[in-house]
Amino acid sequence: MAPSGSRSVKRSCQRVLYWIPVLFICLIVAWSYYAYVAMLCIESIENIGEKIVYLLVYHVFFIMFVWAYWQTVFTKPMTPLKEFHLSYSDKELLEREDRGESQQEILRRIAKDLPIYTRTMSGAIRFCDHCQLVKPDRCHHCSVCDKCILKMDHHCPWVNNCVGFSNYKFFMLFLAYSLLYCLFITATDLQYFIKFWTNGLPDTQAKFHIMFLFFAASMFSVSLASLFAYHCWLVCKNRSTLEAFRAPAFRHGTDKSGFSLGLSKNFRQVFGDEKRYWLLPVFSSLGDGCSFPTCLVNQDPEQPSSPSGHNPSVKSGGEIHPFPAKPLRESQSRLLNSGQSWSESEGTMDREKEGTSNLAMTIENET
Ligand SMILES: [Zn+2]
Ligand SMILES: [Zn+2]
Repeated sequence: MAPSGSRSVKRSCQRVLYWIPVLFICLIVAWSYYAYVAMLCIESIENIGEKIVYLLVYHVFFIMFVWAYWQTVFTKPMTPLKEFHLSYSDKELLEREDRGESQQEILRRIAKDLPIYTRTMSGAIRFCDHCQLVKPDRCHHCSVCDKCILKMDHHCPWVNNCVGFSNYKFFMLFLAYSLLYCLFITATDLQYFIKFWTNGLPDTQAKFHIMFLFFAASMFSVSLASLFAYHCWLVCKNRSTLEAFRAPAFRHGTDKSGFSLGLSKNFRQVFGDEKRYWLLPVFSSLGDGCSFPTCLVNQDPEQPSSPSGHNPSVKSGGEIHPFPAKPLRESQSRLLNSGQSWSESEGTMDREKEGTSNLAMTIENET
């Protein structure tokens, strides 16, 4: 094993290298700004009206694109709340015990207080040995970030960040606005690109910027369109990229649509309930990232609150509510049987109604 000093130097070098793709994107965008604004609009377009319209629309897309990208890159991924972490005494207990029934007992006791419905493929509690925590639903350990990330979608080198619960909406908007940005450039640059090949442009360096701008924008449009279409499909299905590759396992088995609540609700899970925030890269996703409504909760025979009817519902305090009839924040309150938010609900949860404690569990590390 390498000494810790050289390990930290290696890690620091890696951190610097991880920024290279982001720097590459920044340079491309900076050049595209120069090429479009200075070379195409100011230097090559003669019609004043056309020039103004192009510049105005371009800057709207540019600002939204840069804003969404900034938010995706610099929004810290959210990690599980302290309730999911093992206490010092639990850690000591776990270390003292051999991997067997005793350890299962400890994890079972911890997990029964938590709103988790997914398991490992073998039916065990999802436990991160590295972070020493019980993984919330849809949470995964990222080996690049070296921590557990809530609703982890994937680690994206182009933003040098984990795309997950905290920034998935920003990532979607980044894809959308970058696609619009590229399509707009492609569409408006097309006639000047044709002029380049028909010798209709004055013989300045601007014409080469115009040509390369068209190539770059059209190529990025194709790749962004396919990626954006794929993520739109994921949002509609309420799946993360990881879940699309490996369906989440519930106690009754794997179910790739386990978190799907219907098209409209799936969309609102990511973009929120308020329409005025849908197009802005400000956080408006529903929930806290630690627990998620699932239409399968009522199908779980071990859920004491599960009615047997067709409509998915969750029961709390003796009442049956359509599940999730309200935004996730409220659904979670019901899940936890507390009027307060999850982070405030420590010690006030109705532990019996969680219904997560009846399964024989084994420790299984997932990375
Ligand atoms: Zn972890
Ligand atoms: Zn990561």
